[in-house]
Formats: sequence, structure tokens, C-alpha cells
Amino acid sequence: MADQMSSPVPALSAILPTYARADVAFARGDGCWLEATDGSRYLDFGAGIAVCCLGHGHPHLVDALIEQGRKLWHVSNLFRIPQAEELARRLVEASFADYVFFTNSGAEALEGAIKTARKYHAAGGHPERFRLVTFEGAFHGRTLATIAAGGNPKYIEGFGPKVEGFDPVPFGDIEAVMDAITPETAGVLVEPIQGEGGIRVPPASFLRALRALCDERGILLVLDEVQSGMGRTGRLFAHELFGVIPDILATAKGIGGGFPLGAFMTTREAGRGMGVGAHGTTYGGNPLAMACGNAVLDVVLAPGFLDDVALKGLDLKQRLAALQDAHPQIIAEIRGEGMMLGIRTHVPNTEFAVAARAQHMLVIPAGDNVVRLLPPLIAGHDEFAEAIARLGRACQHLEADLPAKGNGSPS
Ligand SMILES: *Cc1c(COP(=O)(O)O)cnc(C)c1O
Repeated sequence: MADQMSSPVPALSAILPTYARADVAFARGDGCWLEATDGSRYLDFGAGIAVCCLGHGHPHLVDALIEQGRKLWHVSNLFRIPQAEELARRLVEASFADYVFFTNSGAEALEGAIKTARKYHAAGGHPERFRLVTFEGAFHGRTLATIAAGGNPKYIEGFGPKVEGFDPVPFGDIEAVMDAITPETAGVLVEPIQGEGGIRVPPASFLRALRALCDERGILLVLDEVQSGMGRTGRLFAHELFGVIPDILATAKGIGGGFPLGAFMTTREAGRGMGVGAHGTTYGGNPLAMACGNAVLDVVLAPGFLDDVALKGLDLKQRLAALQDAHPQIIAEIRGEGMMLGIRTHVPNTEFAVAARAQHMLVIPAGDNVVRLLPPLIAGHDEFAEAIARLGRACQHLEADLPAKGNGSPS
């Protein structure tokens, strides 16, 4: 018992304590709303970090899951999986890609994308070209390679030698990219809009300049659209907003609507090294996951859905701008595209998120002192009005706690 008492681990549960969790648990969800175990309701503008793109309990997804669940869950990739071939065909038809590989998470999708970029050059007789230029403030996942790619020292330190081959430069700095490219460079790995970094949107010219630079130097443009993809910005993928076509792309989060699913996608040319035996996964693309992925696409690719997301995103952004006007001491800036929006706050962003939660509204802290608003893509005017009202009350509470103006003394 003495051992337990002196343990540095809070005795909240037997879950390895790698998260500072809020002391709330949810029992059910419906659309944009979550019901906590105490029966109280929360407006969910986090959507499980951009995962529940169609909200909670979407009837089409629930039906697809149950129907497939009765038939067949898993078979392995030693056999053809018609549902996976179908989803891959639809993703290819709707995008730049020729091939898709399904994974179970974003980090795995990135691992596959990184391997594909390296193998492209190896297959072309240049195995020494394995490095990727990456960006400060990036986030690519928590595996050994993706923490190295993300470059955040907090995630890297203590886990042994950092995986070689990632050269970070400031986000948006094309000159720095030019300087970082060497004869060992395989490509550039970039989020079109940085998510965890704080909804940082680069100028459109940046991604176009990256594309031109990659073409000029014979290297690959690899996009991480794990967060920005699957309709989040009002386009199926955010790079479409910038008029740029990648060679390789990783996506996840929204693609399964809540079922663990990711994918990397490649052109035929960029994927030239990935033949039989080059990569594998036990679960990736199994029938149950594919039923969910296909059901998500049914909705996201239905005529008008993405245009509607773009319009609703503008509406929400305008409402947030008005909220900023009303609370300039709390809100510093509104940014983002579509329904991938960020509020940069003057108060610590974590305090803002706690104040919002006290109003039973969920938002998600990110880098650069930003809180993210990533509502289900089905959210509309009613949910926006409710969100603005709740965030307004959160701002009022935060204002009441600010030190009195023009008075140096705290009391
Ligand atoms: C969430 C995220 C990842 C990692 O996805 P996991 O499913 O947590 O492994 C990678 N890249 C970006 C941009 C993300 O937002």
C-alpha cells in the first residue's frame, strides 16, 4: 500500500497516464451532441479531433456497421477484399491518386507515405535519397518515425536515437526549403494546413511554390491530410483549395467517421517502388472498416455536401469574427478554412477550453495558443448559434477574471 501511496501516477484508472484527461465521460452521442454519464449534454465542436465527421450515431453509418458486422468482420490482406477495392476505386476517382493503401491510424498512414517516398528513389537507383524536408510546428503522429518527422522535442526526448532523415524548416518559408534540399532529399512532407500546430494556414503561393520546387528538383510532394482531409475544409482534400496536386498523401481521422481507419494514396509513378512485399498490415482495410469508410464517402461525396461545408464554414467564421469584436480582450484572431477553424486567444488556450467546457461546449487546444473548432460536418445554423452563445458566455466569465484595466496591482 505504501508503494501505491507514493506512486507518481494519479490513481484515476489503470490506463497508462499519458493524457491529462478532463474528468468527464460520455455515454452516448447524437449528431453534434454528447451526453455525459451524469445525463448532462455537451455541444461537441471537437468531434473526437475531427474524426466524427458526420457526428455521432449517424443512421447511415450505424446501418452500414451493423449490416457488415452481421456478415464478416475480418479476413486479412491475403485475400481480395471487395469492400476495400470499392473504397479505393472511389477515393482514386475523387482525387489525384492511382493507388490507395488502408491503415488503422494517421501515424501508420504517414509511415506508409514516408516509406513510399523513400522507396520511389531507391527503385530509381537512388537509395541515398531518403530524407524529407519537414516543417516546424508540424504533427505527424506518435510512432518513432513520425515523432522525428514532427520534430517536437517533447515527443522525441527519452525514446532513444531519433529516426534519421527529417530536416525541419520554418513553416511557409520557401527559401529555407530550397536551402534544405540536398542530393539526399527524397521529398517535402507538409500539412497543407497545420492542425495540432494551431490551424496555421500558409499563403496559397507557398504550396504552389513547393510543388514547382519539387518538380524542378525531381523530388516528391508528400501531404499529411490526416486532419485537413475528408471534407474538413469544404473540399475532399485541402490541397484542392490551393490548386496543388501531391504525389503522395496520408489521410485518416474523418475517413472512418469514428471507426479507426487511415490511408495513404499515391500516383502510379510515386508508388513505383511499392510492389508485392514492400508493405503490409494485418487489420488495414478489413471489411468492417471498409463498410464504415464507404458509408462516410456516400455522404461526403453526395452532390452538394462539400459545397455546403464550405458555405457553412464561412458562416461560422463570420460569427466567430463577430464574437472576437465583442470580446477583444479574450479573442486575438480567427483563422482556418471550411470547418477547420481556430481561435487564437489572449488568455491561455487551455483556460479558454475549460471555460467553454463549463458552458458544456467542447473545443480542442492546439499549438500557437489556439483552440480548434472542428465540428461535425453536419453541424449547421442551429448548432452555430448555440456554439456562439456558449462561447460568448465563456468569454464573459474569462473577462470577469481578468485583472482590472489600468491598475498595476492585482488586488
Ligand atoms: C492526428 C494526426 C496524425 C496522427 O494520427 P493518429 O491517428 O493519431 O496516429 C498525423 N498527422 C496529422 C496532421 C494529424 O492531425
